[in-house]
Amino acid sequence: MDPVLVVGAGPVGLTAAAFLAHAGAPVRIIDANAAPTTLSKALVLWRRSLLTLAPLIPPGYWHSVGEPVLAACFADNGELAAQLQVPAPPGYTQQPHLNAAAAAAAPSASEASDAGDAAAGKDGQAAAAVPEQQQCGSVHALPAGMLVVQADIEGALVTLLRDSYGIEVQRNTSLAAFSVAEDSSSVLCTLTDTDGSNQQQLRASYLVGCDGGRSAVRKLLGVQFAGTTLDQRWLLGDFRYEVDAAVNAAHTPQHPCEGSLQRGTLFISPTDVGLMGLIPLGKRQGQVRVIWNADAHCPGEPTMQDFQQLLSTHTRQQMRLTEALWLSEFKINERQVQSYLHGNGRVLLAGDAAHIHSPAGGLGMNTGLQDAANLAWKLSLVAAGEAAAGWQLLDTYQEERHPVGAHVIRMSGLLLRANALRNPFVRFVRNSSNSSSSNGSSSNANGHDSSSSTTNGKKPYPKDEQECSKCVKEQRVDENLKPICGRDAEGLPQHHTSRRGVSNQVQLSTYADAIGDNLSDLTAFLQQDELQGAFGSLHLLPIYPSTGDRGFAPVTYQEVDPQMGNWDQVHSLGHEYQLCLEYMVNHISPGSPQFQDYLQHGEASRYASMFVKWRDIWPEGGPSADELEKVRTRKPAPPVLSVTLADGSCMPLWNTFSDQQVDINPFSEEGWAFTEASLRSLCEKGRARLIRLDAFGYVTKKAGTSCFMQSPEVWQLLERIKAVVKPYGVQLLCEVHEDFKLNIELARHGYWVYDFALPLLMLHALKFKTAEPLRHWLSICPRRQITTLDTHDGMGVDDVAGLAPLAAVPELERSIVCRGGSINYKHFYVPAAQFEADASCDDGGEQCRRSSDTLQQVSQFLQPDCLQGCYKSVPHQYNETYFSALGEDPQQYLLARAIQFFTPGVPMVYYVGLLAGVDDIELMKRGSIRDINRHHFSLEEAACCLQRPVVQALLELCRFRNRHPAFTGRVFVDDATPPHELHWLAYQHVKRRLLARAYPICASKQ
Ligand SMILES: Cc1cc2nc3c(=O)[nH]c(=O)nc-3n(C[C@H](O)[C@H](O)[C@H](O)COP(=O)(O)OP(=O)(O)OC[C@H]3O[C@@H](n4cnc5c(N)ncnc54)[C@H](O)[C@@H]3O)c2cc1C
Repeated sequence: MDPVLVVGAGPVGLTAAAFLAHAGAPVRIIDANAAPTTLSKALVLWRRSLLTLAPLIPPGYWHSVGEPVLAACFADNGELAAQLQVPAPPGYTQQPHLNAAAAAAAPSASEASDAGDAAAGKDGQAAAAVPEQQQCGSVHALPAGMLVVQADIEGALVTLLRDSYGIEVQRNTSLAAFSVAEDSSSVLCTLTDTDGSNQQQLRASYLVGCDGGRSAVRKLLGVQFAGTTLDQRWLLGDFRYEVDAAVNAAHTPQHPCEGSLQRGTLFISPTDVGLMGLIPLGKRQGQVRVIWNADAHCPGEPTMQDFQQLLSTHTRQQMRLTEALWLSEFKINERQVQSYLHGNGRVLLAGDAAHIHSPAGGLGMNTGLQDAANLAWKLSLVAAGEAAAGWQLLDTYQEERHPVGAHVIRMSGLLLRANALRNPFVRFVRNSSNSSSSNGSSSNANGHDSSSSTTNGKKPYPKDEQECSKCVKEQRVDENLKPICGRDAEGLPQHHTSRRGVSNQVQLSTYADAIGDNLSDLTAFLQQDELQGAFGSLHLLPIYPSTGDRGFAPVTYQEVDPQMGNWDQVHSLGHEYQLCLEYMVNHISPGSPQFQDYLQHGEASRYASMFVKWRDIWPEGGPSADELEKVRTRKPAPPVLSVTLADGSCMPLWNTFSDQQVDINPFSEEGWAFTEASLRSLCEKGRARLIRLDAFGYVTKKAGTSCFMQSPEVWQLLERIKAVVKPYGVQLLCEVHEDFKLNIELARHGYWVYDFALPLLMLHALKFKTAEPLRHWLSICPRRQITTLDTHDGMGVDDVAGLAPLAAVPELERSIVCRGGSINYKHFYVPAAQFEADASCDDGGEQCRRSSDTLQQVSQFLQPDCLQGCYKSVPHQYNETYFSALGEDPQQYLLARAIQFFTPGVPMVYYVGLLAGVDDIELMKRGSIRDINRHHFSLEEAACCLQRPVVQALLELCRFRNRHPAFTGRVFVDDATPPHELHWLAYQHVKRRLLARAYPICASKQ
């Protein structure tokens, strides 16, 4: 078996290698450095890390090289302000102060006795008593943390690797390049000596980049390390020191920790010249780390004298620095990669290579160690082929560790800022110095300065709003929306969906190239601060190479359209959002290799059975008028397409939609092989969690029927599809615009469906000020549904048949058309006899004549009586953006969204709806009717729209829906429910009032 290659023998790489070896996986570990570090670097192993490492190194071991953390002292200009005591581990004997003079100054008897003890030893650093149970490896009663320098941690791990597993770190060896094999089965790595000589190749099963903040693995991947560099200058010095009462003689320490270092105690103090901290270097006696946010106060390279000056002038410490062991300066970065997995899961990042942040809290190494332990056991199983769906197990590394990294970045940043800002004196120092930008500004994930926020904390309108043509000018959203905007929801826990289930968080539906031009732009858009927490899942409209219908004429499902991006980018999005991908059950593009092969070889083609021959359905030569009347069609013509094969013969094929969408027969051997392979691709390459089955109802072609949703075939096919995707934990979402009863039936069979009735019922409720049809629908609608107000298609008319009062729909149609909206028609064949009886056919004579022409064009595939009839068209969908459909009124729009979010099911928001977009009449004129609601937003325009109050309120509403625990419960609507109320029953009730202009949303935790 190829080994796992770990790049980097810092604490994270060593931990990963040790856990892999521990699990029996073959492992190689290399490091560019010729020797292990001797620098102290990280100083604390927190309890969680002691536990994490316990299977490798008994926690008691750390007492031989470290000291338990016992306290933190917070001072102001060196004068103690507060002390935080950490309970000592049981059995641990409190050791004497390091500074006898300071101890003598302290009033308490116990401290006096400590001072006496200190006097007994030259420097007071007698060995700590190690609790017995920790020495023998028990993980009980561990200290909160152990002060151990990083070099000693690395030393312990190197020894362990060598002595227990026979693994030596291959030093002076750098990773120079790598490539993932085409079949994604391994990674070919190029290693060189660090000076670039002696190149060698190594085939690794997996490559784990633990190569620190400047990670070569990350750079070779070309992965962005998104985040910011804080504009603060920090100085660091490790020193040997002596305690000397002559230093700072003017100050009598009022507490031992004011005067000198106490065993196991961290000392933090803002001073006139910046925040400073003192940390004992583990068990290294008489050594201290001084860390200092000097900014402009120490302009040159730091020297020991600068630090001595700091201690002598701005603190009460009686410390004389005697030797500088390490002097350095640094700036704090807060960065994280979006994905810890790359190269189809073969290349993984851990530790500082994946996340870096403020040292406040001492969490960097600790987080990395825990990354390594989390990753290693999974990798050992996957590398040994023992995990059935390897990538799924590895995916949990991202799912579990990425949020921890993000949280640590946030918390350590807060801790840093809190320490720097809490003290009024520090604020004064900061404000009066010229470095205010460093503390006062914040940057977004892309590193853009967002310090222009106004002082009241509200984001201003973008300055260039006037130039932003699609940003509708609007009133600020009324005050009464504020309760939506989170106050009541704050502090409530975010609820998660199980990995196998469908996310119960708001879903965003979008084309990959609708906001910006590709997946990379879409990712950048979604990373904006405004969107954080708003969506839990992402529906990507077709991302595959396609020859028409905006992606719905797919050539293959094995690739992402290169103009949109690649699978890696899809995976990255999949790490952030539960992905819903498209599968068109009924058809593929004539540009597909399978169809091209069929054109070339005709019946001899391997794929011949995949396409639906007209003659197989109509052996008599074609349907009669009666039969044609029954067939459910999507165009004003019979569903037939005549193709010319390479041998010159003409072959009529079934063709439901456009000529770029050739019907396939998934019941045939090759049709099913294609279907199965494509579905697997979406599960494996696309990492879909939900697959949306488009146009599946049209696959059941049987003479004498509607050829739509025929039983039992359609149910059998759905079951077969389900069996393919189920092992991947993927669920199916059936897309069908039909009588609502069909969706209820599908949901009863365990499939997810869309609530396509809601858009028109909502418009009806708001326009006619009556909630009854809506309430009735909510009482009977499926619960396993994705609710919609808008989609890339229009608002379905069939979907509300029988739900809205008959007169209401034409009235809604009139108002939509008046505003510039459009109607998309569906078509059905009318035989001659009915044609004559149908007055509307006379009225629409031109329509009938035109469709008669289309009958003539395919007359050779029909029985002669068909030619006497015509195709008639009736409204199928209304096309308009939902914001425009509501008169571009933010209040109405937000009310509609609020109701949508509160109705049974999981809410979906279409990208145009997210940005409250208006009708794009120009695009519609140039393209198709549905383009009215398919506006392309540049990234700038989208960013501008995000500042609009209506969009911000909608995003807050999304977050409220995602976070409030009520929505994990059951929604309660029945005929007795008052029409203006919905109740979500979980921990509380959430109510909304429909008809009043003001519609408070009341939420409570009870
Ligand atoms: C001053 C300071 C104080 C800190 N204090 C704390 C603390 O108290 N607590 C805490 O948890 N964290 C602390 N940290 C952070 C901690 O040091 C890091 O988080 C930790 O070192 C990260 O470990 P790592 O193994 O990911 O990376 P590193 O320790 O950076 O190790 C990376 C290794 O990869 C090797 N390498 C790089 N490129 C290549 C290549 N191309 N080929 C082969 N090898 C390569 C390097 O030589 C290096 O040995 C501190 C850091 C500093 C600088």
